[in-house]
Amino acid sequence: MPLIQVALPTPLRRLFDYWPVAGEPLPVAGVRVKVPFGHRQMIGLVMGITETSELPANRIKAALTYLDTKALFSKPHLDFISWIASYYHQPLGEVVSAALPALLRQGQALHPPQEPRWQLTELGRTTSIEALKRAPRQAALIRTLQTSGLPKTQKSLQSEGFTLAMLQGLESKKLIELQKLATQKKGVGLPQLAPAEHLPTSVLAEVPLKLTSEQQAVVELLVSKVGAFSPALLQGVTGSGKTEVYLQLIQHLLEQGKQVLVLIPEIGLTPQTLKRFERRFNRRVVAMHSGMADKERLTAWRSALEGRASVVLGTRSAIFTPLPKLGLIIVDEEHDSSFKQQEGVRYQARDLAILRAKKENLPVLLGSATPSLESLAKAKEGAYLWLHLKQRPGAGVLVPEPKLLDIRNRHLVGGFSEPLLLAMDKHLKEENQVLVLLNRRGFAPVLMCTSCGWIAGCLHCDARMTWHREPPKLHCHHCDQQQPLPTNCPQCVEGELKPLGAGTERAEETLQARYPDIPVIRLDRDSVKNRNDLASKLDQVARQRPAILLGTQMLAKGHHFPDVTLATLLNADHGLYSSDPRAMERTAQLIIQVAGRAGREEKPGEVIIQTHHSDDPRLEKLCIEGYEALALDLLEERKKINWPPYAYLAMLRAEAPKTEQVEEFMRLLAEQANLLNQEGVTLLGPVPAPMERRQGRYHMQLLLHANKRAPLHRLMARLLAWLEGSAEARRVRWSLDVDPEDLF
Ligand code: ADP
Ligand code: ZN
Ligand code: ZN
Repeated sequence: MPLIQVALPTPLRRLFDYWPVAGEPLPVAGVRVKVPFGHRQMIGLVMGITETSELPANRIKAALTYLDTKALFSKPHLDFISWIASYYHQPLGEVVSAALPALLRQGQALHPPQEPRWQLTELGRTTSIEALKRAPRQAALIRTLQTSGLPKTQKSLQSEGFTLAMLQGLESKKLIELQKLATQKKGVGLPQLAPAEHLPTSVLAEVPLKLTSEQQAVVELLVSKVGAFSPALLQGVTGSGKTEVYLQLIQHLLEQGKQVLVLIPEIGLTPQTLKRFERRFNRRVVAMHSGMADKERLTAWRSALEGRASVVLGTRSAIFTPLPKLGLIIVDEEHDSSFKQQEGVRYQARDLAILRAKKENLPVLLGSATPSLESLAKAKEGAYLWLHLKQRPGAGVLVPEPKLLDIRNRHLVGGFSEPLLLAMDKHLKEENQVLVLLNRRGFAPVLMCTSCGWIAGCLHCDARMTWHREPPKLHCHHCDQQQPLPTNCPQCVEGELKPLGAGTERAEETLQARYPDIPVIRLDRDSVKNRNDLASKLDQVARQRPAILLGTQMLAKGHHFPDVTLATLLNADHGLYSSDPRAMERTAQLIIQVAGRAGREEKPGEVIIQTHHSDDPRLEKLCIEGYEALALDLLEERKKINWPPYAYLAMLRAEAPKTEQVEEFMRLLAEQANLLNQEGVTLLGPVPAPMERRQGRYHMQLLLHANKRAPLHRLMARLLAWLEGSAEARRVRWSLDVDPEDLF
């Protein structure tokens, strides 16, 4: 007798065998199933059918019910999901879980059950109200149904004051009846796709812009690649018209009845972005992101699955969306770190986009003004088409060259040097906008006692607490611990407590004091809690001039600020002397992204970067020769130190409430790794994590480094087999991160 193989959301890296549900036809792969698991029930996904099991027949349990009549994922999509599980060494059931909208994970039906509606019978349609004059409420009910002409739910009739008794009374007189619902047909296979004939004939809802010759060439080349796997990197400064290229390429696919998946960074998916896509096409565009309500997300997901959504615009997890007619994948701002999932099922959505395109034989387009070194390396070696947009359409304003402003030995007021403030004066006087980027929230990153040197630290982390003014508190940004501001120094009592350094709140205060009549629009996680806040702030920006836009990373990503003529980064030093080889890449990306905000449309711009190291040759190169020149240097450096993208990494992390527990575990883990390592993988560590104590737990890490991917993966597989059987591993929390990005 055949058995079904089920992926269940458990940490165990295997499939589970069950007897099929008695009396039902065998399910197809991709159908959800409810099964007994230990003392509980779980919802999993059928992955296949098998005739043999490692378990003796009497230990195999029977599945309880199937939750779908049709597969949620096609066979190729299931293969994609299985590949993700094996490449990232994550339990298949957890990858399946990550790929499903929450409501489906919880067992809800793909289609919400329809509420039955009451309608008039033939008799009820023709009956005269007169005949019911002895029952005036019943008569009124009949009249309501007759005048509206539409069936109504019991709920809506009750809200109009009709009771269930009245409904039943009329039903017994055969005047009304419950509408028969079209029952979902039982059957196996994939869901029915929407018939094409219901769609308006033209895919365009507005006239597209006339492309510049540069854009035209790019679109034509990409159109010629449709229908086959073809990865391309589109490198174009901010405002060079990449989005317009996407739109015109998408148009071409929609005309062929295809679906398109567009991945964008967390912060880039604003209502404005969505509107720009919706405005263009006579086809359904759906958003998919973590801020959506579960129901909304399921609706979007279902319309993608059934082929009714033509464009899916989503953040990283949208890479899992089933799209039966997928014709193209676009990853915008492909360098953005939000494409890397850092918890649970750890994956890199940009890499998965390439893989999915390869498996489904599609073109995939990565776009950025500042491509990741990974993508740049591929483009350089010819594995990706390398396309450039060098000009900005329209008045031909170029991206201004960033100027380094050395702040060594300069007095700073709330983070601002005098020359910077003078430059701001000038731009504001000309009624333009100034953008100030500062990558620190709160009022000040440190609260210190000036007489004894006490510093407010977090009880649970090796971190300082940030002083927030609004509302007043100390806040640890690593564990979210919050406490009231001390009125006195807890150590010496009489010393004065002073802020050290500046966050966005302090910068705001400084600017507001200097420019009392100019609006300071602050964008950071404290002032922007959701996408609507962001939209309303961006709306303010669009309406006010002069104005100062002040904020964190949020400001540097994707938005268009046509009135900004001065863009400034208050401190560029963070990445310069970090031990993380990625830090300089990130700093360079940030500087160029900031520069890209200045001088759009008819206004020339200026970009000022404050630093203590204006003579740093890398910064100089970036400012004078541009991002690509520096990035190619950084790539050479990576090659020399044998680091990704020229080498491969995997990170094992562990944490426990006590140092000894995690140390002991890591010692054993390293011992095993050394024992199992037969192919020259280098072990770096174990060492304490960059922040050893976090959220009251001790963290350590062991980095595996290899020149080739395969030996690294074989070692991981062996280590995982050991980890799953080891009692020590159950005493700590451990995780494996393949191609990790945050190491230091
Ligand atoms: P990017 O995505 O590279 O930042 P966009 O596509 O958003 O660039 O274009 C930047 C600005 O230039 C937008 O306001 C857009 O409407 C405009 N634009 C883009 N392409 C053209 C074109 N061919 N002709 C005129 N304006 C254009
Ligand atoms: Zn003190
Ligand atoms: Zn903390």
